[in-house]
Amino acid sequence: MSDEIIELKAKLPILELLASQGVQAQKQGKGWMARCPFHEDNTASMSVDPEKNLWHCFGCQKGGDVLTFLRERDGLTHRQAVEAARAMLGQLPETKPVPNPARSTVPPGVDPYLLLDQVASIYEESFQRHRQAQLLMKARGLSDPATLRAFRMGYCTGTALVSDRDLLLRHL
Ligand SMILES: [Zn+2]
Repeated sequence: MSDEIIELKAKLPILELLASQGVQAQKQGKGWMARCPFHEDNTASMSVDPEKNLWHCFGCQKGGDVLTFLRERDGLTHRQAVEAARAMLGQLPETKPVPNPARSTVPPGVDPYLLLDQVASIYEESFQRHRQAQLLMKARGLSDPATLRAFRMGYCTGTALVSDRDLLLRHL
């Protein structure tokens, strides 16, 4: 396990993660118990250990660390869970540097607001195409399609999606 993963897990407290996913743990004796979200659980069978940052369900026998929880909860791969955890900590996923275009000002005669709207639409389309982006938002509790549309949720892959020229042609 890399140092970065160990650090990431240490920074994401299990109780906060559970709370952000709608799972409320209650102090019970020496430990914490919660209703397990992975099986029909009326008796709070999930044991949570904030000190070790681990969880275990005595009902369905699932358990693990914060990354395991994200994987189980959203059907993520290990890598996606790491990215979701990073996103939760407010760290942006690593992106490749985008070459700085020589022309960065809006040409004369082009309405900058319309141009901005066009750019936003491109990233919106990109969000709809990339399931990974949708899963990242879902992991943060944002999966309602109406909300995502209302806020025009977009996704940048870190590479240029469209050239300046194409953008202008679409705009004009
Ligand atoms: Zn369970």
